[in-house]
Amino acid sequence: MAKISIDLNSGTVAKSEAVIGIDLGTTNSLIATINNADRLPYCITNDSDSIVPSALYFGKDAIHVGKKAIAQLVNEPENTIYSVKRLMGKSYTDLQDLNHNLNYQIIDNQDQLVKVKIANKQYSPIELSSYILKDLKIIAEQKLNNRVNKVVITVPAYFNDSQRQATRDAGKLAGMDVLRIINEPTAASLAYGIGLTGDEGKTVAVYDLGGGTFDISLLYIQNGIFEVLATNGDTYLGGDDFDKAIVDIWSKQYDLKNLTASNRQILRLTAEEAKKALSTTTSFQKVVSIQGTNFTLSIRLEQLNDAIKPLIDKTMQSCQNAIYDAELSVADVQEVILVGGSTRTPLVKSTVEKFFSSAKVNDDLNPDEVVAMGAAIEADILAGNRKDMLLLDVTPLSLGIETLGGLMDVLIPRNNKIPTKLRKEYTTSVDGQINLAINVYQGEREMVTDNRKLGEFILQGIPAMPAGLPKVEMTFMLNADGILQVTAEEKRSGIKQEVQMKPQYGISDEEIKNMLQESITNAQEDMDRRGLAEATTEADQLIYATEKFIRENGELLNQESETVIRQRMDKIKEAIGAKDKNLIVSMTDELNNYSRQFAEKVMDKQINKALKGKKI
Ligand code: AMP
Repeated sequence: MAKISIDLNSGTVAKSEAVIGIDLGTTNSLIATINNADRLPYCITNDSDSIVPSALYFGKDAIHVGKKAIAQLVNEPENTIYSVKRLMGKSYTDLQDLNHNLNYQIIDNQDQLVKVKIANKQYSPIELSSYILKDLKIIAEQKLNNRVNKVVITVPAYFNDSQRQATRDAGKLAGMDVLRIINEPTAASLAYGIGLTGDEGKTVAVYDLGGGTFDISLLYIQNGIFEVLATNGDTYLGGDDFDKAIVDIWSKQYDLKNLTASNRQILRLTAEEAKKALSTTTSFQKVVSIQGTNFTLSIRLEQLNDAIKPLIDKTMQSCQNAIYDAELSVADVQEVILVGGSTRTPLVKSTVEKFFSSAKVNDDLNPDEVVAMGAAIEADILAGNRKDMLLLDVTPLSLGIETLGGLMDVLIPRNNKIPTKLRKEYTTSVDGQINLAINVYQGEREMVTDNRKLGEFILQGIPAMPAGLPKVEMTFMLNADGILQVTAEEKRSGIKQEVQMKPQYGISDEEIKNMLQESITNAQEDMDRRGLAEATTEADQLIYATEKFIRENGELLNQESETVIRQRMDKIKEAIGAKDKNLIVSMTDELNNYSRQFAEKVMDKQINKALKGKKI
């Protein structure tokens, strides 16, 4: 029976509707909502389990989601889809590395967003995610005995605009009103109530080690404002690697090779069982049958710890990098929040505790459920059930446009708080230019070719004016979901164009991580290239202006000075050809110094001309 609520003032029946938070994970998804009685969040359980595997099985008659889908992974791998989150907002080329690890087929769609081929039909990752979300919506409606339309969905803090937009679209396609897309670490903090009361500012580290991914986020939380100071992580590191380490130990011990898919699966599942057992005991043993032979698979806690220590050390290096990025020291971190099933592994917890030795480590809540619970709290806030609070996040990569010479000109720097709006003024480089191509990029490198192109558009219909006269104001607005709106306006004429960055190109998770690393590795070379590009642009513009000068004011030059000017222009062109920055700069100076006298003459000529027309 559906619940109804009555508006006591008017006596009318109000339409009841529940709001939910969804943690749409790579491996598992969870749904949470707020308990009306105590206003606390809780996860909705399905078959007494709050975890719904983010997997899909395309059966003959129907699409199954969750455990039913996982059950088909061994028998019908080509019809069983998992890790859809890794495909969101990506193109085929972005997924080259991942492709070999997928059981199902992805289509080479060139630069378009990738599609998955299942039984001769093609599906976009957005559609696939929407099937998962639709299923979660149905579970929520059945368990809550109420309609569910409004949802907050969480994404990793490093998700770019395309990936956020794809997640939002999947929610819409599933028939839901996506109130907001929020960052997973922000949700985890909310679940612990950090920031819900207007207390002192706090620096919080959210350490999230799931099945396949690791994220560390540093937040500064004050008066309900969640500011992400820095993020770091590894998109291919998690509890699955712990399982693999155990499988390797056993495979070596018994020389297990060339196993069938189902035997590999048995070995992997036993390894996971062992790992989980070793979170509460010190040894594990089980007899399993592999290829007709019984094997006693055993492992001690010390063995597991030795095997996974290098993996945990890698996560700590990421923590160190994030602290460096945030310009903090470890001692500044006051609270740590443990998220993800793998933080139950004792060595993970003790290593994190040792590293953040002056911080309080929060692990009271179920680490699998905290993100969904936080999303439910946020949904509750946005539904107007709580005092509205501002959620501030951060952009993980700089956003900017291409300027003359292929240079990256940043409007919103990396780690800038969002929502944000920033403006900058530009102009044209050629006389009478009526169109201006605007290319938007994301990344940290000095040359746009090394960054990621988000989109492009042309500001058309600028009235013809001399170079440098039009005033083109670029506005970048990043909303709370991290969606970028770019506006270009020529202020003199009022010509304006607005574009929301549509995800055309994807980016591999590895690339996001590497982009930051590469900007550090190539810093010197990048600075040199920027210096050369700037000098070349300036020299090109001087040649352009000088040629125009000769055309328009030839009478001010005698044969000899024109020859000197032309010779100096040739020298600049040679220096540009030789890509010699210092030579370009000195040749440019030489021409500038020589032509100054003529520029002065032109000014005199123009003043005389102006005076002639006026009656004094
Ligand atoms: P998540 O992606 O957050 O759901 O995390 C799933 C990962 O947590 C998987 O690798 C699980 O094997 C791991 N996990 C779940 N329970 C435990 C446990 N008790 N001890 C260690 N790892 C666990």
